[in-house]
This record gives sequence, structure tokens and C-alpha cells, in this order.
Amino acid sequence: DWINSRARLFPHDEAIVDAELNDSWSFQQLNERAILIATFFREKGVKKGDRVALLSPNHISYFDFLFACIKIGAIFVPLNWRLSKDEMDYVLSDANPKIIGIHQYFNKKFSWIEEDYYVLNIEDNHYVNDLINISQAFIPEESLNESDPLAMIYTGGTTGKPKGAVLSHRSILWNALNTIVSWNLTDEEATITTLPMFHTGGLNALIVPVLLAGGKVIVTDDFEPKKAVEDLIKHKCTIVLFVPTMYHMIIKTDAFRTSNFPHMKVFLSGGAPCPLNIYDAFEQKGLLFKEGYGLTEAGPNNFYIDPEEAKHKRGSVGKPMVFNDIKIINDNGQEVDINEVGELCLRGNHSFEFYWNKEEETKKTKIDGWLHTGDLARKDKDGFVYIVGRKKEMIISGGENIYPLEIEHWLSSLEGINEVAVVGIPHDKWGEAVAAFVSFNKGKQFNEQELQEYCSRKLSSYKIPKKFFVIDELPKTHVGKIDKKSLVQQYSNTFA
Ligand code: ATP
Repeated sequence: DWINSRARLFPHDEAIVDAELNDSWSFQQLNERAILIATFFREKGVKKGDRVALLSPNHISYFDFLFACIKIGAIFVPLNWRLSKDEMDYVLSDANPKIIGIHQYFNKKFSWIEEDYYVLNIEDNHYVNDLINISQAFIPEESLNESDPLAMIYTGGTTGKPKGAVLSHRSILWNALNTIVSWNLTDEEATITTLPMFHTGGLNALIVPVLLAGGKVIVTDDFEPKKAVEDLIKHKCTIVLFVPTMYHMIIKTDAFRTSNFPHMKVFLSGGAPCPLNIYDAFEQKGLLFKEGYGLTEAGPNNFYIDPEEAKHKRGSVGKPMVFNDIKIINDNGQEVDINEVGELCLRGNHSFEFYWNKEEETKKTKIDGWLHTGDLARKDKDGFVYIVGRKKEMIISGGENIYPLEIEHWLSSLEGINEVAVVGIPHDKWGEAVAAFVSFNKGKQFNEQELQEYCSRKLSSYKIPKKFFVIDELPKTHVGKIDKKSLVQQYSNTFA
């Protein structure tokens, strides 16, 4: 119970700040809240292994629920509030939580949930005080093993239905410890919760490690690029994580152009491939920027790159962190040579335990302790790893393997291109044909011939998209990644 230990050691240090309402809580207060919630859960019959879910914008309740679960061995299930009713029904029937905390912000939207589940209405920051009389609160004793589940986080659902990745006490703690040691986090860190906290990127990637290191987390709500920049400055943040789509918006704001971010040590990107023009925007301002790679099932943090080195190893996610191993294998399971592309496998205490209700998927994904990520990568002679793309998204055209990311990186370096996604579309002759979807910045326009000509400056002919589709805005998934699945579905008859 590390929140209890932090509260014992540093009771009065500020831990969480609510940026909108000007509330703040010390480690001791956080621990007290968790005791209240844990007692309340127990009163409602929650036992070790039961699920307790939360539907909330970024809010103090995420910490209340997580830390209460640490105390009683329940499984915290943060829910994606962007899901449709059908998707939410699927996730709820899969997780079958005993209690669902619903923040008042979502009461109306999810009112139907109350019919089937016990709902705890979360009215404001002080809701915990109404739950239980403080004098009745206790620290529930529970004998827990480090491999007992602590949280179940649903994957992004980029390639199919979301899967509940079960993370043990060990995986969450080791991801945080590994991150602190490998990224040199200290109690001077301050960060904002920009990503939704129901997602591994919004919870485990930075927020939990910063807290465990004794730093401060400023809870901010929905993402708005100008406000995000202002919040970083106002709260003297030292480190932050955004997904590339957010950076994409941030670098276009005047607030970004005119700020010099005096307290920021490093800006982190993760969750999806980061276009190189985002690196450029930070480099031009002399700010340190680095890309991380992760997935719900492992950490999510796996690599570290020194931001100075990152300048010379553009597009690399770095080297494995201190406490985890990686290997890159071919289809026969053998490790590939330097610079050869293969599937990235990860091993370490930060790894998930299993997929909830998905035994077969678990067996296919976790083999002899190695997590097979489904992502392709290569390692250069200096040991720096480059993510090449998802295995499922690799295009095979006329027998050649084509990695969309290489083409996307090149196209996004063309000034005037706003966003780009490259996919394989079924083709009678070639099996699959390369197609690119692009959107342009205001006032810029290229025709297909110009784009093909630009590609031919760098790419072999079989990699040059056979067709370019110009669209206003690329579709995104619930967690803000480019939704390639829907593009392929929508345009699957293009070459028929
Ligand atoms: P699902 O597993 O449900 O299809 P998902 O793969 O998007 O969804 P997440 O755990 O949210 O689930 O995302 C992890 C994936 O995101 C990785 O497997 C990888 O494909 C991609 N990713 C994360 N970081 C990077 C990065 N820096 N570069 C390229 N891809 C990345």
C-alpha cells in the first residue's frame, strides 16, 4: 500500500491539485480519502477480486478509486466515456462491476446504467465525506499477493473490440518504479492530466509514476490546445505527455509559438507514431522532446531515450528501460539481425497478467513470459529501437512488405501536409495496393501527381501510393488515434 507509505513519510506534501476548482490534497489527505472509499466499498459488499468501475472526466475520484482498490484488493476499472451505448454495454457485461461511480457530468448520458448496476453518484470533489462517517472508517485488512489484479484497463480498440488488460499490483508498481528510475523523475516533478485517465496513457504512463516519486499532479479536464499550453506554464509543470494528435493541435497555437516554457524539462509523446514535423516544432524552439512507446498490456512505458540523443536518433523510442527486456523476432521466433524488422516482444514485472474473459487471446499474446506486442520494430547498431508499425497494418503489395509509417513520415515532412495515413487496400493484381489519405493545412493544396513526385524523391516505386485521397479531417478512434480500420473499410472497393 504505497499511498499509505507516502502519507506516512511525507504527510503534508501537496499531491493533487484540482486546477478548475482550486482544491488541493496532500498525500495524507489522499490516503484518508482512499480509506473512506475502501470502507464504503466494503460496506456495499465489495470483496477482493470484485470490480469497481468509474465513469468520470479527469477528477480526484480516479485516485480515490485506485488507492481504495490497493487497500482492499478490488479491481479498478476506469471506463471510456466516449463509448457508444452498445460499446459500453459490451464493456460492462464483460467487466460486470459491483459498483460504478458516475460523475455528475455524465449522469444524464449514462442514466440507463442505473437500471442494471449499483451506481455511486459523484457530485463534487468532496463526495467521499458523505459516504461514511469518518469515525467508522477503517483500514481493511486484506492479504494480497503482488500478482493479484489491481486494475483492468481496456485497450484502445484500434484493431478490434477493446480487451480488458488485467494489471496486477506488481505491474502498476513496477511500471512506476521503472519509469522513475529510468526517466530520473523526482519529487520536483509537476504535471497535468491532459490525456483521459481511463486510458493507460492518462493514468499509468506518467501520473502514477509522478505521484510515487512524490511529485504533484494537476487535474485538468478536457483537452483544449491553448488552455493546455497555458496550464503547463501556470502550474510550473516540468514534464508532460500528449498523444501526437494533441501535439498536432498544440504546435499551431499562438500560445505555443510565444511561450518558452521555463520549467519544462521534457515533452513526451506516445500512444501512436509521432510525425517528424512535431519533432521539428520543438527543436526550433530549443525544447526537449521525446517519443515513447507503450501499450496497455505492458506498463505502458518500455523505453527511454535521452532527449539530447533523441535529436540524433530521430523517430527512435530509445533503449529498453532499466527493469525490462526486449527482443525482436522473425516469424520463426528467432531474434533478427541489426536493422532487420521483426515483431517486438517485451518482458518485465510491468507486464499485464491476462486479458479478462479472453483466455485464448492471452495465450497467443503472452508466451513464456514474453508479451508479443503485434508491433514491428528494428534496432540499430547502437541499440536504439525504432517502431516500424503494427504487424496488422503492414501492407503486402506484389509480394513486397511495406511499412506505412515510413511513407507517413516522409509525406508528413512535406510542408503543407496536415495529417496523413497510409493503408493497404485490396487490389486484384497486387494483393494490396498502397493508398494514402491526406489533409492539407489551410491555403495549401497538392494534386496526386505532385504528391507522387514528392514520394519518388525518397521512396522505392512499390512504396509510392497508387492513390491519394484528400479529406478534410482523418477519422479518429475513441482515444484519438487515426482510425485506419474505418478508412480501409470505407475505401475497400477502390481498386475492385
Ligand atoms: P487494441 O489493442 O484494442 O487494438 P491499441 O493497440 O490502440 O488498441 P493501446 O494499448 O491503446 O491499444 O495502444 C498501444 C499501441 O499503440 C501499440 O501496440 C502500438 O501499436 C501503438 N503505439 C504506441 N506508442 C507508439 C509509438 N511511439 N510509435 C508507434 N506506435 C505506437
